[in-house]
Amino acid sequence: MTKKYETETPGYTMTTVMEEAARCLLCHDAPCSAACPAHTDPAKFIRSVRFRNVKGAAETIRENNALGAICARVCPTEKYCELACSRSGIDVPIDIGGIQRYVTDFEQADDMHILHAGDSNGMHIAIIGSGPAGLQAATTLLEKGYSVDIYEKNAKAGGYLTYGIPEYRLPSNIVDYEIKRITDMGANIHFNTIIGKDMTMDQLKAENDAVIVAIGASEAKMLPMFENNDAVETAVSFLARTKQAKGNIDLPDNALVIGGGDVAMDVVTTLKKLGVEHVTDAVYEQFDEFRASKKELAGAEREGVTIIDGYVPDSVNGHTVTLKHRHINSEMTIEADTIILAIGQETNAKNLGIKLEHGEAPSAGYKTHDPKVFITGDIAQGDKTVVYAVQKGKEVAGEIDSILGGNRDDQ
Ligand SMILES: Cc1cc2nc3c(=O)[nH]c(=O)nc-3n(C[C@H](O)[C@H](O)[C@H](O)COP(=O)(O)OP(=O)(O)OC[C@H]3O[C@@H](n4cnc5c(N)ncnc54)[C@H](O)[C@@H]3O)c2cc1C
Ligand code: SF4
Repeated sequence: MTKKYETETPGYTMTTVMEEAARCLLCHDAPCSAACPAHTDPAKFIRSVRFRNVKGAAETIRENNALGAICARVCPTEKYCELACSRSGIDVPIDIGGIQRYVTDFEQADDMHILHAGDSNGMHIAIIGSGPAGLQAATTLLEKGYSVDIYEKNAKAGGYLTYGIPEYRLPSNIVDYEIKRITDMGANIHFNTIIGKDMTMDQLKAENDAVIVAIGASEAKMLPMFENNDAVETAVSFLARTKQAKGNIDLPDNALVIGGGDVAMDVVTTLKKLGVEHVTDAVYEQFDEFRASKKELAGAEREGVTIIDGYVPDSVNGHTVTLKHRHINSEMTIEADTIILAIGQETNAKNLGIKLEHGEAPSAGYKTHDPKVFITGDIAQGDKTVVYAVQKGKEVAGEIDSILGGNRDDQ
Protein backbone atom coordinates (compact mmCIF):
# COMPACT_ATOMS: atom_id res chain seq x y z
CA MET A 1 0.00 0.00 0.00
CA THR A 2 2.78 2.46 0.92
CA LYS A 3 4.58 1.72 -2.37
CA LYS A 4 2.13 3.89 -4.27
CA TYR A 5 2.71 6.73 -1.79
CA GLU A 6 6.47 6.56 -2.25
CA THR A 7 6.60 6.30 -6.04
CA GLU A 8 6.96 9.44 -8.12
CA THR A 9 5.77 9.36 -11.71
CA PRO A 10 8.44 8.17 -14.18
CA GLY A 11 10.57 10.86 -15.84
CA TYR A 12 11.75 11.20 -19.45
CA THR A 13 14.15 8.81 -21.18
CA MET A 14 16.93 10.06 -23.48
CA THR A 15 14.62 9.56 -26.49
CA THR A 16 11.50 11.19 -25.02
CA VAL A 17 13.41 14.15 -23.56
CA MET A 18 14.86 14.85 -27.03
CA GLU A 19 11.36 14.79 -28.50
CA GLU A 20 10.14 17.26 -25.87
CA ALA A 21 13.19 19.55 -26.27
CA ALA A 22 12.68 19.47 -30.06
CA ARG A 23 9.32 21.22 -29.57
CA CYS A 24 11.15 24.30 -28.17
CA LEU A 25 10.96 27.26 -30.55
CA LEU A 26 14.42 28.55 -29.41
CA CYS A 27 13.01 32.04 -28.86
CA HIS A 28 15.29 35.06 -28.86
CA ASP A 29 15.02 36.79 -25.41
CA ALA A 30 13.14 33.70 -24.23
CA PRO A 31 10.14 34.59 -22.05
CA CYS A 32 10.44 31.32 -20.07
CA SER A 33 13.87 32.33 -18.74
CA ALA A 34 12.60 35.79 -17.81
CA ALA A 35 9.67 34.18 -15.94
CA CYS A 36 11.77 31.87 -13.76
CA PRO A 37 12.09 33.53 -10.33
CA ALA A 38 15.50 31.89 -9.70
CA HIS A 39 16.84 32.67 -13.22
CA THR A 40 17.48 28.97 -13.83
CA ASP A 41 17.57 29.85 -17.54
CA PRO A 42 15.41 27.14 -19.16
CA ALA A 43 15.97 28.54 -22.66
CA LYS A 44 19.73 27.94 -22.31
CA PHE A 45 19.53 24.48 -20.71
CA ILE A 46 16.89 23.25 -23.19
CA ARG A 47 19.10 24.42 -26.07
CA SER A 48 21.99 22.36 -24.58
CA VAL A 49 19.71 19.31 -24.32
CA ARG A 50 18.74 19.72 -27.99
CA PHE A 51 22.43 19.53 -28.87
CA ARG A 52 22.76 16.45 -26.61
CA ASN A 53 25.00 18.38 -24.22
CA VAL A 54 23.33 17.25 -20.98
CA LYS A 55 26.41 18.12 -18.90
CA GLY A 56 26.31 21.69 -20.22
CA ALA A 57 22.60 21.82 -19.37
CA ALA A 58 23.35 20.67 -15.80
CA GLU A 59 26.02 23.39 -15.47
CA THR A 60 23.51 26.06 -16.54
CA ILE A 61 20.98 24.87 -13.95
CA ARG A 62 23.50 24.68 -11.10
CA GLU A 63 25.08 28.06 -11.83
CA ASN A 64 21.75 29.59 -10.90
CA ASN A 65 19.93 27.15 -8.68
CA ALA A 66 21.49 24.95 -5.98
CA LEU A 67 18.17 23.11 -5.66
CA GLY A 68 17.54 22.50 -9.36
CA ALA A 69 16.50 18.85 -8.96
CA ILE A 70 13.98 19.83 -6.27
CA CYS A 71 12.56 22.77 -8.24
CA ALA A 72 12.20 20.49 -11.28
CA ARG A 73 9.71 18.46 -9.26
CA VAL A 74 7.84 21.00 -7.13
CA CYS A 75 7.79 24.33 -8.99
CA PRO A 76 4.29 25.50 -9.86
CA THR A 77 5.54 25.85 -13.45
CA GLU A 78 2.06 26.80 -14.69
CA LYS A 79 2.53 30.09 -12.76
CA TYR A 80 6.15 30.75 -13.78
CA CYS A 81 8.27 29.46 -16.69
CA GLU A 82 5.62 27.41 -18.52
CA LEU A 83 3.05 30.22 -18.28
CA ALA A 84 5.40 32.35 -20.38
CA CYS A 85 6.32 29.62 -22.92
CA SER A 86 5.72 30.77 -26.54
CA ARG A 87 4.84 27.21 -27.58
CA SER A 88 1.51 27.65 -25.74
CA GLY A 89 0.39 29.72 -28.76
CA ILE A 90 0.68 26.59 -30.96
CA ASP A 91 -0.42 23.75 -28.67
CA VAL A 92 0.85 23.19 -25.09
CA PRO A 93 3.86 24.68 -23.29
CA ILE A 94 7.18 22.83 -23.17
CA ASP A 95 7.41 20.59 -20.08
CA ILE A 96 10.25 22.64 -18.60
CA GLY A 97 10.08 21.01 -15.16
CA GLY A 98 10.25 17.56 -16.78
CA ILE A 99 13.31 18.44 -18.89
CA GLN A 100 15.00 20.00 -15.83
CA ARG A 101 14.31 16.77 -13.91
CA TYR A 102 15.89 14.69 -16.68
CA VAL A 103 19.04 16.85 -16.65
CA THR A 104 19.44 16.88 -12.86
CA ASP A 105 18.77 13.12 -12.65
CA PHE A 106 21.56 12.66 -15.24
CA GLU A 107 23.81 14.92 -13.16
CA GLN A 108 23.15 12.81 -10.04
CA ALA A 109 23.60 9.48 -11.88
CA ASP A 110 26.89 10.76 -13.35
CA ASP A 111 27.99 12.08 -9.91
CA MET A 112 28.90 15.47 -11.40
CA HIS A 113 30.40 18.07 -9.02
CA ILE A 114 29.58 21.47 -10.46
CA LEU A 115 29.44 23.67 -7.37
CA HIS A 116 32.66 24.59 -5.56
CA ALA A 117 33.51 26.82 -2.61
CA GLY A 118 35.58 29.91 -3.41
CA ASP A 119 38.93 30.72 -1.78
CA SER A 120 38.37 31.71 1.85
CA ASN A 121 37.88 35.42 2.47
CA GLY A 122 38.11 34.95 6.26
CA MET A 123 34.53 36.00 6.96
CA HIS A 124 31.85 33.99 8.76
CA ILE A 125 28.09 33.95 8.29
CA ALA A 126 25.49 32.23 10.49
CA ILE A 127 22.21 31.11 8.95
CA ILE A 128 19.19 30.22 11.09
CA GLY A 129 17.11 27.59 9.29
CA SER A 130 18.09 24.97 6.69
CA GLY A 131 15.06 25.25 4.40
CA PRO A 132 15.55 26.09 0.71
CA ALA A 133 16.26 29.77 1.42
CA GLY A 134 18.95 29.00 4.00
CA LEU A 135 20.47 26.29 1.78
CA GLN A 136 20.67 28.53 -1.30
CA ALA A 137 22.06 31.45 0.73
CA ALA A 138 24.72 29.09 2.13
CA THR A 139 25.68 27.91 -1.39
CA THR A 140 26.07 31.42 -2.80
CA LEU A 141 28.10 32.57 0.22
CA LEU A 142 30.37 29.49 0.07
CA GLU A 143 31.02 30.17 -3.63
CA LYS A 144 32.08 33.69 -2.65
CA GLY A 145 34.56 32.38 -0.04
CA TYR A 146 32.60 32.86 3.21
CA SER A 147 32.51 30.15 5.86
CA VAL A 148 28.93 29.21 6.73
CA ASP A 149 27.33 27.68 9.82
CA ILE A 150 23.64 26.73 9.61
CA TYR A 151 21.62 26.30 12.81
CA GLU A 152 18.60 24.02 12.45
CA LYS A 153 16.02 23.18 15.10
CA ASN A 154 15.14 19.80 13.54
CA ALA A 155 17.18 16.60 13.39
CA LYS A 156 17.39 16.83 9.58
CA ALA A 157 17.98 19.67 7.16
CA GLY A 158 15.62 20.86 4.41
CA GLY A 159 12.69 22.55 6.17
CA TYR A 160 9.49 21.71 4.29
CA LEU A 161 11.48 19.84 1.63
CA THR A 162 12.21 17.20 4.26
CA TYR A 163 9.26 17.61 6.61
CA GLY A 164 6.40 18.69 4.34
CA ILE A 165 6.21 17.99 0.60
CA PRO A 166 5.07 14.35 0.23
CA GLU A 167 7.38 11.58 -0.96
CA TYR A 168 5.38 10.84 -4.14
CA ARG A 169 6.05 14.44 -5.31
CA LEU A 170 9.54 14.93 -3.85
CA PRO A 171 11.53 11.80 -2.95
CA SER A 172 13.74 12.13 0.15
CA ASN A 173 16.80 10.79 -1.67
CA ILE A 174 16.66 13.75 -4.08
CA VAL A 175 16.51 16.22 -1.16
CA ASP A 176 19.30 14.44 0.73
CA TYR A 177 21.53 14.50 -2.37
CA GLU A 178 21.01 18.22 -2.96
CA ILE A 179 21.82 18.95 0.70
CA LYS A 180 24.92 16.71 0.62
CA ARG A 181 26.32 18.74 -2.29
CA ILE A 182 26.05 21.86 -0.11
CA THR A 183 27.61 20.25 2.98
CA ASP A 184 30.37 18.84 0.72
CA MET A 185 31.10 22.46 -0.27
CA GLY A 186 31.72 23.20 3.42
CA ALA A 187 28.39 24.24 4.98
CA ASN A 188 28.44 23.17 8.61
CA ILE A 189 24.94 22.28 9.88
CA HIS A 190 24.24 22.24 13.63
CA PHE A 191 21.14 20.09 14.12
CA ASN A 192 18.64 20.12 17.01
CA THR A 193 19.61 23.70 17.81
CA ILE A 194 16.87 26.28 18.37
CA ILE A 195 18.14 29.83 18.14
CA GLY A 196 16.35 31.83 20.83
CA LYS A 197 16.45 28.84 23.20
CA ASP A 198 19.61 26.70 22.86
CA MET A 199 21.70 29.63 21.62
CA THR A 200 20.98 33.34 21.53
CA MET A 201 21.01 35.82 18.69
CA ASP A 202 23.64 37.81 20.60
CA GLN A 203 25.97 34.78 20.56
CA LEU A 204 25.58 34.41 16.78
CA LYS A 205 26.13 38.12 16.22
CA ALA A 206 29.28 38.11 18.35
CA GLU A 207 30.75 35.10 16.52
CA ASN A 208 29.85 36.07 12.94
CA ASP A 209 30.12 38.92 10.45
CA ALA A 210 26.41 38.64 9.64
CA VAL A 211 23.39 36.53 10.60
CA ILE A 212 20.66 35.44 8.18
CA VAL A 213 17.25 34.53 9.60
CA ALA A 214 15.62 31.95 7.28
CA ILE A 215 13.11 30.37 9.67
CA GLY A 216 10.13 30.10 7.29
CA ALA A 217 6.63 29.54 8.61
CA SER A 218 7.20 26.26 10.37
CA GLU A 219 4.36 26.22 12.92
CA ALA A 220 0.80 25.16 12.13
CA LYS A 221 -2.21 27.34 12.86
CA MET A 222 -4.96 25.93 15.11
CA LEU A 223 -8.63 26.88 15.53
CA PRO A 224 -9.56 27.32 19.22
CA MET A 225 -12.51 24.88 19.02
CA PHE A 226 -10.11 22.04 18.04
CA GLU A 227 -7.51 22.64 20.77
CA ASN A 228 -6.74 19.72 23.14
CA ASN A 229 -8.79 17.28 21.07
CA ASP A 230 -7.07 13.88 20.67
CA ALA A 231 -8.78 13.28 17.32
CA VAL A 232 -7.18 16.39 15.83
CA GLU A 233 -3.80 16.75 14.13
CA THR A 234 -2.35 19.58 12.05
CA ALA A 235 -1.51 19.09 8.37
CA VAL A 236 2.20 19.79 8.72
CA SER A 237 2.49 17.40 11.67
CA PHE A 238 0.69 14.66 9.69
CA LEU A 239 2.81 15.24 6.56
CA ALA A 240 6.07 15.38 8.54
CA ARG A 241 5.49 12.12 10.40
CA THR A 242 4.20 10.37 7.26
CA LYS A 243 7.24 11.42 5.22
CA GLN A 244 9.69 10.48 7.98
CA ALA A 245 8.02 7.05 8.36
CA LYS A 246 7.87 6.62 4.55
CA GLY A 247 4.14 6.07 4.79
CA ASN A 248 4.31 3.35 7.46
CA ILE A 249 1.87 4.94 9.88
CA ASP A 250 -1.34 3.81 11.60
CA LEU A 251 -4.23 4.73 9.33
CA PRO A 252 -7.77 5.79 10.15
CA ASP A 253 -10.77 4.25 8.33
CA ASN A 254 -12.04 7.70 7.57
CA ALA A 255 -10.61 11.19 7.80
CA LEU A 256 -11.97 14.72 7.70
CA VAL A 257 -9.56 17.38 6.45
CA ILE A 258 -10.34 21.07 6.92
CA GLY A 259 -8.73 23.49 4.46
CA GLY A 260 -8.56 24.05 0.71
CA GLY A 261 -5.02 25.14 -0.17
CA ASP A 262 -2.18 23.10 -1.67
CA VAL A 263 -1.19 21.77 1.76
CA ALA A 264 -4.73 20.40 2.25
CA MET A 265 -4.49 18.77 -1.20
CA ASP A 266 -1.20 17.13 -0.16
CA VAL A 267 -2.90 15.73 2.95
CA VAL A 268 -6.02 14.34 1.25
CA THR A 269 -4.02 12.88 -1.67
CA THR A 270 -1.53 11.28 0.73
CA LEU A 271 -4.36 9.73 2.78
CA LYS A 272 -5.94 8.25 -0.33
CA LYS A 273 -2.61 6.99 -1.71
CA LEU A 274 -1.99 5.26 1.63
CA GLY A 275 -5.32 3.48 1.29
CA VAL A 276 -7.71 5.41 3.57
CA GLU A 277 -11.13 4.65 2.13
CA HIS A 278 -13.18 7.68 3.16
CA VAL A 279 -11.47 11.07 2.91
CA THR A 280 -13.59 14.21 3.06
CA ASP A 281 -12.21 17.70 2.56
CA ALA A 282 -14.27 20.61 3.95
CA VAL A 283 -13.23 23.83 2.22
CA TYR A 284 -14.13 27.40 3.25
CA GLU A 285 -14.04 28.62 -0.37
CA GLN A 286 -16.48 27.56 -3.07
CA PHE A 287 -15.09 25.76 -6.13
CA ASP A 288 -14.73 28.92 -8.23
CA GLU A 289 -12.64 30.60 -5.48
CA PHE A 290 -10.35 27.66 -4.59
CA ARG A 291 -6.80 28.56 -3.47
CA ALA A 292 -5.27 25.17 -4.37
CA SER A 293 -3.58 24.92 -7.76
CA LYS A 294 -5.64 23.21 -10.47
CA LYS A 295 -2.97 20.50 -10.73
CA GLU A 296 -3.15 19.65 -7.01
CA LEU A 297 -6.96 19.77 -6.95
CA ALA A 298 -7.19 17.49 -9.99
CA GLY A 299 -4.79 15.05 -8.29
CA ALA A 300 -7.01 14.91 -5.19
CA GLU A 301 -10.14 14.43 -7.28
CA ARG A 302 -8.45 11.61 -9.26
CA GLU A 303 -7.76 9.80 -6.00
CA GLY A 304 -11.46 9.94 -5.10
CA VAL A 305 -11.49 12.55 -2.30
CA THR A 306 -14.95 13.90 -1.41
CA ILE A 307 -14.75 17.70 -1.48
CA ILE A 308 -17.47 19.78 0.17
CA ASP A 309 -16.99 23.40 -0.75
CA GLY A 310 -18.23 26.51 1.05
CA TYR A 311 -18.50 24.82 4.50
CA VAL A 312 -16.90 25.97 7.77
CA PRO A 313 -16.70 24.09 11.07
CA ASP A 314 -19.34 25.39 13.50
CA SER A 315 -18.83 23.08 16.48
CA VAL A 316 -16.96 19.93 17.44
CA ASN A 317 -17.64 17.20 19.95
CA GLY A 318 -14.79 14.68 20.06
CA HIS A 319 -14.74 13.00 16.63
CA THR A 320 -17.93 14.69 15.41
CA VAL A 321 -17.78 17.98 13.55
CA THR A 322 -20.78 20.08 12.54
CA LEU A 323 -20.20 22.23 9.46
CA LYS A 324 -22.31 25.10 8.16
CA HIS A 325 -22.42 26.52 4.66
CA ARG A 326 -21.23 30.11 4.39
CA HIS A 327 -24.03 31.30 2.09
CA ILE A 328 -26.94 28.88 2.11
CA ASN A 329 -28.91 27.48 5.02
CA SER A 330 -27.26 24.08 5.10
CA GLU A 331 -25.61 22.11 7.89
CA MET A 332 -23.92 18.71 7.95
CA THR A 333 -22.43 16.56 10.65
CA ILE A 334 -19.41 14.35 9.95
CA GLU A 335 -17.92 11.76 12.26
CA ALA A 336 -14.28 10.95 11.53
CA ASP A 337 -11.57 8.84 13.14
CA THR A 338 -9.09 11.62 12.43
CA ILE A 339 -9.59 15.34 11.86
CA ILE A 340 -6.70 17.11 10.13
CA LEU A 341 -6.47 20.90 10.10
CA ALA A 342 -4.81 22.44 7.03
CA ILE A 343 -5.57 26.10 7.68
CA GLY A 344 -2.11 27.59 7.24
CA GLN A 345 1.29 27.91 8.86
CA GLU A 346 2.83 30.73 10.86
CA THR A 347 6.25 31.93 11.95
CA ASN A 348 7.64 31.66 15.45
CA ALA A 349 10.32 34.34 15.72
CA LYS A 350 10.37 34.25 19.53
CA ASN A 351 13.56 35.64 21.09
CA LEU A 352 15.15 36.43 17.71
CA GLY A 353 14.73 40.19 18.04
CA ILE A 354 13.33 40.71 14.53
CA LYS A 355 10.15 42.60 13.73
CA LEU A 356 7.57 40.81 11.57
CA GLU A 357 4.01 41.72 10.62
CA HIS A 358 1.71 38.76 9.92
CA GLY A 359 4.82 36.54 9.82
CA GLU A 360 6.51 38.64 7.15
CA ALA A 361 9.05 41.47 7.07
CA PRO A 362 7.21 44.79 7.30
CA SER A 363 9.02 46.15 4.22
CA ALA A 364 10.48 44.70 1.02
CA GLY A 365 14.14 43.59 0.94
CA TYR A 366 16.33 41.64 3.31
CA LYS A 367 17.68 44.20 5.80
CA THR A 368 16.42 44.53 9.39
CA HIS A 369 16.79 47.34 11.92
CA ASP A 370 20.01 45.57 13.03
CA PRO A 371 22.79 46.09 10.43
CA LYS A 372 24.22 42.64 11.21
CA VAL A 373 20.94 40.73 10.80
CA PHE A 374 19.20 39.87 7.51
CA ILE A 375 16.06 37.92 6.70
CA THR A 376 15.17 35.71 3.74
CA GLY A 377 12.84 32.96 2.48
CA ASP A 378 9.16 32.80 3.38
CA ILE A 379 9.52 35.56 6.00
CA ALA A 380 10.70 38.02 3.34
CA GLN A 381 8.01 39.55 1.16
CA GLY A 382 7.07 37.74 -2.09
CA ASP A 383 5.68 34.36 -3.18
CA LYS A 384 5.92 31.49 -0.71
CA THR A 385 7.37 28.81 -3.01
CA VAL A 386 10.62 26.87 -3.16
CA VAL A 387 11.87 28.63 -6.29
CA TYR A 388 11.21 32.02 -4.67
CA ALA A 389 13.08 30.84 -1.56
CA VAL A 390 16.01 30.01 -3.87
CA GLN A 391 15.86 33.47 -5.45
CA LYS A 392 15.64 35.18 -2.05
CA GLY A 393 18.51 33.04 -0.72
CA LYS A 394 20.74 34.13 -3.62
CA GLU A 395 19.72 37.76 -3.29
CA VAL A 396 20.34 38.01 0.47
CA ALA A 397 23.78 36.44 -0.03
CA GLY A 398 24.55 38.95 -2.79
CA GLU A 399 23.40 41.84 -0.60
CA ILE A 400 25.57 40.72 2.33
CA ASP A 401 28.55 40.32 0.01
CA SER A 402 28.08 43.80 -1.40
CA ILE A 403 28.02 45.24 2.16
CA LEU A 404 30.86 43.15 3.63
CA GLY A 405 32.94 42.98 0.45
CA GLY A 406 35.10 45.95 1.39
CA ASN A 407 36.18 44.34 4.69
CA ARG A 408 37.35 41.07 3.21
CA ASP A 409 40.87 39.67 3.73
CA ASP A 410 41.14 39.05 -0.04
CA GLN A 411 40.50 42.68 -1.04
C1 LIG B 1 3.03 20.70 2.84
C2 LIG B 1 3.69 21.75 2.00
C3 LIG B 1 3.80 21.55 0.65
C4 LIG B 1 4.41 22.53 -0.14
N1 LIG B 1 4.51 22.29 -1.48
C5 LIG B 1 5.17 23.17 -2.26
C6 LIG B 1 5.37 22.90 -3.65
O1 LIG B 1 4.91 21.89 -4.18
N2 LIG B 1 6.05 23.82 -4.39
C7 LIG B 1 6.58 24.94 -3.84
O2 LIG B 1 7.24 25.70 -4.56
N3 LIG B 1 6.40 25.25 -2.53
C8 LIG B 1 5.73 24.37 -1.73
N4 LIG B 1 5.55 24.66 -0.40
C9 LIG B 1 6.09 25.93 0.13
C10 LIG B 1 7.60 25.82 0.38
O3 LIG B 1 7.89 24.61 1.03
C11 LIG B 1 8.10 27.02 1.19
O4 LIG B 1 7.79 28.20 0.48
C12 LIG B 1 9.63 26.94 1.43
O5 LIG B 1 9.98 25.73 2.09
C13 LIG B 1 10.10 28.14 2.25
O6 LIG B 1 11.47 28.02 2.48
P1 LIG B 1 12.18 28.67 3.77
O7 LIG B 1 13.60 28.26 3.68
O8 LIG B 1 11.84 30.10 3.86
O9 LIG B 1 11.46 27.99 5.03
P2 LIG B 1 11.24 26.51 5.55
O10 LIG B 1 11.26 25.50 4.46
O11 LIG B 1 10.02 26.58 6.39
O12 LIG B 1 12.52 26.24 6.47
C14 LIG B 1 12.74 26.96 7.66
C15 LIG B 1 13.67 26.17 8.55
O13 LIG B 1 13.99 26.96 9.70
C16 LIG B 1 14.01 26.12 10.84
N5 LIG B 1 13.80 26.97 12.04
C17 LIG B 1 12.69 27.70 12.35
N6 LIG B 1 12.89 28.40 13.51
C18 LIG B 1 14.15 28.09 13.92
C19 LIG B 1 14.94 28.50 15.06
N7 LIG B 1 14.48 29.37 15.97
N8 LIG B 1 16.19 27.99 15.19
C20 LIG B 1 16.68 27.10 14.27
N9 LIG B 1 15.96 26.69 13.18
C21 LIG B 1 14.73 27.20 13.00
C22 LIG B 1 12.88 25.15 10.57
O14 LIG B 1 13.01 23.97 11.36
C23 LIG B 1 13.06 24.88 9.07
O15 LIG B 1 13.95 23.80 8.82
C24 LIG B 1 4.92 23.72 0.43
C25 LIG B 1 4.78 23.93 1.80
C26 LIG B 1 4.18 22.96 2.60
C27 LIG B 1 4.03 23.19 4.06
S1 SF4 C 1 13.40 26.52 -11.51
FE1 SF4 C 1 11.18 26.15 -11.59
S2 SF4 C 1 10.28 28.05 -12.45
FE2 SF4 C 1 12.49 28.05 -12.90
S3 SF4 C 1 12.71 27.14 -14.96
FE3 SF4 C 1 12.97 25.47 -13.47
S4 SF4 C 1 10.93 24.56 -13.22
FE4 SF4 C 1 10.64 26.61 -14.17
